[in-house]
Amino acid sequence: MSSHKYVYDFVEGNREMKGLLGGKGANLAEMTNLGLPVPPGFTISTEACKAYLGSGRVPESLAAEIDEHLRALEGRMDRRLGQSDNPLLVSVRSGAAFSMPGMMETVLNVGLNDQSVRGLAAQSGNERFAFDSYRRLIQMFGKTVLGIAGEHFEDALEAAKKVRASENDLDLDADDLRKLVETFKQVVIDQAGRDFPQDPREQLDLAVRAVFDSWNTERAVIYRRQERIPADLGTAVNICSMVFGNLGPDSGTGVAFTRDPASGAQGVYGDYLQNAQGEDVVAGIRNTVPLLELETIDAASYEQLMGIMATLETHYRDLCDIEFTIERGKLWMLQTRVGKRTAAAAFRIATQLVDQGLIELDEAVQRVSGAQLAQLMFPRFDDTVTGGAAGKQRVAKGMAASPGAAVGKVVFDSYTAVKWQRSGEQVILVRRETNPDDLNGMIAAAGILTSRGGKTSHAAVVARGMGKTCVCGAESIDVDTKGRVMRLPGGRVVEEGEVISIDGTTGEVFLGEVPVVPSPVVQYFEGELSVEQIEQDELVAAVDRLMRHADGRRRMSVRANADTPEDARRARRMGAEGIGLCRTEHMFLGDRRPLIEKLILADTDEQQQAELAALLPLQRDDFEHLLEAMDGLPVTIRLLDPPLHEFLPDITDLSVRVAVAEARGEPREGDLRMLQAVHKLHEQNPMLGLRGVRLGVVIPGLFEMQSRAILEAAAARIRKGGVPRVEIMVPLVANVQEYETVKQHIIQVAREVRAETGVHLEFLVGTMIELPRAALTADQIAETAEFFSFGTNDLTQTTWGFSRDDVEAAFFAAYLEKGIFGVSPFESIDREGVGELIRIAVQKGRAARPGLKLGICGEHGGDPESVQFFEQVGLDYVSCSPFRVPVARLEAGRSAG
Ligand code: ADP
Ligand code: MG
Ligand code: MG
Repeated sequence: MSSHKYVYDFVEGNREMKGLLGGKGANLAEMTNLGLPVPPGFTISTEACKAYLGSGRVPESLAAEIDEHLRALEGRMDRRLGQSDNPLLVSVRSGAAFSMPGMMETVLNVGLNDQSVRGLAAQSGNERFAFDSYRRLIQMFGKTVLGIAGEHFEDALEAAKKVRASENDLDLDADDLRKLVETFKQVVIDQAGRDFPQDPREQLDLAVRAVFDSWNTERAVIYRRQERIPADLGTAVNICSMVFGNLGPDSGTGVAFTRDPASGAQGVYGDYLQNAQGEDVVAGIRNTVPLLELETIDAASYEQLMGIMATLETHYRDLCDIEFTIERGKLWMLQTRVGKRTAAAAFRIATQLVDQGLIELDEAVQRVSGAQLAQLMFPRFDDTVTGGAAGKQRVAKGMAASPGAAVGKVVFDSYTAVKWQRSGEQVILVRRETNPDDLNGMIAAAGILTSRGGKTSHAAVVARGMGKTCVCGAESIDVDTKGRVMRLPGGRVVEEGEVISIDGTTGEVFLGEVPVVPSPVVQYFEGELSVEQIEQDELVAAVDRLMRHADGRRRMSVRANADTPEDARRARRMGAEGIGLCRTEHMFLGDRRPLIEKLILADTDEQQQAELAALLPLQRDDFEHLLEAMDGLPVTIRLLDPPLHEFLPDITDLSVRVAVAEARGEPREGDLRMLQAVHKLHEQNPMLGLRGVRLGVVIPGLFEMQSRAILEAAAARIRKGGVPRVEIMVPLVANVQEYETVKQHIIQVAREVRAETGVHLEFLVGTMIELPRAALTADQIAETAEFFSFGTNDLTQTTWGFSRDDVEAAFFAAYLEKGIFGVSPFESIDREGVGELIRIAVQKGRAARPGLKLGICGEHGGDPESVQFFEQVGLDYVSCSPFRVPVARLEAGRSAG
């Protein structure tokens, strides 16, 4: 006997035990202990699932533990599982620590067989109900436990309805359903090669094992990868005594939110379906009614439900979503959890809860995330156009299920969505309703449109979770998946590949491409809104309030990567406190290109000097404008980094040009010389070739010219009364001598500029840490470098040995699929490898030079999860693209303290 406890009665758990009992089990326990009406039951822990998945066998002690809890349940309910004259029935429900909507399987009505179905009929006095429950059991069991394709059952159900000339399953009577049960049992024999198990306990055990197994179904794996949920958590299994919403018109089942998950507004949001069981509400089998109508159907239950919802909100101090069932006028709670919500709702709800005194502002900033803020910054449809002005037609309106503006080509299945998206198309996935098999298509699509289902349908819930634009329940559209068309109300037929636009904020559907405009949140960050305008827009006001609070908490500062004065000004408006990376190579492109070409082609020192002298005033001008835009704030300027051949024509193009010219008998001297130079500079692995500090060592004049331009610009700014704060940054240093060589040149230039201008200049010289060797010898480098800036893109490339351009397209998909990493290390910092190098460099660098300034300027600076890591290792600032600055500010504020 193992001493392990695998099974917990609902009264034994609480909401903190999600890891062990799964979210559903933990919250069922919490509700039970709050005294809410939850049907009794127990939970088999995730530990049992992990043991099963690890060994392929159900742990030995589990059966006895289930026996014991089942006996207790039977005693309490005064009937045995599947008892033939008065059966106890249970549901077998999966529930992992993180909610995975529709991912795992649930089986209802376990305990019914050929005998107990009669007992149920007698006990309830409702034969139709008993056989309806039985056919549901065989159907769910067949699908999820025996792996039979659902359509075998669905087709049989459709056929039965057709006989009745009805679309409504309620028109099937007891006889029809009894026949359907026989048909279903035959389907099981035909498809699974076995009988539907009549032994209730065997049903239970097989269902439990099926739930365990469902942890590793393909769609569960895809969902976890998408949501970055660890693959080894396992799922719990809840055994819950059945209550019945399919007992007649005084019964029913529903789902609800305590607030609108799309906008955050308080009120009654939900769907109710009379005479129905479980999944019927979300599956879109019949049309649901708004929850408000329950008040007329069953006032007492409605009242009680409202009270329970208020209790839950106060208890959880957050928006909750719930599942409930009414059995002959008696309300039962079947599930609750802190509900998913849109990004806008998250900001609004967080501040509403502060106003209601339920949470503090500190907690409110934890209730929103940088990723959500990023979503609010997406553009929206231009209102002035959607009105129909520019010939844009609104062709339908559904429910605003998940906000955003999406434009794309219509596709009708997941496969096409993925295929077209891979070839660079934007697509809108159009379905009657979605199910978990559509997940890949939903991920690939820019937006999702369904013709059936409400705000709690699969499409709506999953899209909100992904932050994807979704319009659902656009009932006037007829979606013909087989015919690959959709028919609009007026009869217009839209074929696959036609462009539509959908607005997840209003639920509107348009033909053609509707232009987009910036979101009000971006206008706010840009400083385009007045104080009144901010106050009037609840969302913008919430963002403003939480951003202020995050800024107040923040320890790290936030800078921007910006190369031009325009970018710098924009970054500043967005709250950047300096430039963390100005890439100077952009200053050599466009009409400056011929100058740098000449420099590279220069044969003699004199020629080279002359070309550099020609570049100097242009560079000085660039820097002066940049320093002006960032006056008073630090500006880190990186000396030229890329290999020189990047500034020269492509070797193949040039070879062709030369060959053609020669064939015509009119060779061009310039092209020939250029080709020779290109050949000379050609490298097998330019990423690891002559670039960065190595250029500074080999062609000292180049870095000297750039340093001179920077320092002369600073001197000019000072003379004009400005406050330039220059930081000169040397890229791709691996070794302290390399750095020292270049630094000496810079110091010499500074002496000259001081002497020439008479202006006293203060500036820093530092280096990027983007090679493992630099991180490992950071103590030596810090002896002479005044700051470090982690170039996490190159550091990731050189740590993993990945050439980003080559590997991302070639095999990252396979790596992600196989779970080698859950997210690309270029998107989110690899804490164990690259992150460890950063830790080492921080620790060694600060040991050698206590005041060493530390920042990061790779793209990771704008990635919420990476920002959290940079806070942990104690960097002074993160730098990211101007548009991501607010995201980094919020995330730095959340992670501080
Ligand atoms: P999911 O995680 O997909 O929501 P659930 O385990 O919550 O799956 O169950 C699916 C449906 O069955 C839900 O609508 C739920 O309310 C209903 N259900 C589950 N257990 C019971 C029960 N004991 N009695 C009545 N309905 C139930
Ligand atoms: Mg549920
Ligand atoms: Mg780099």
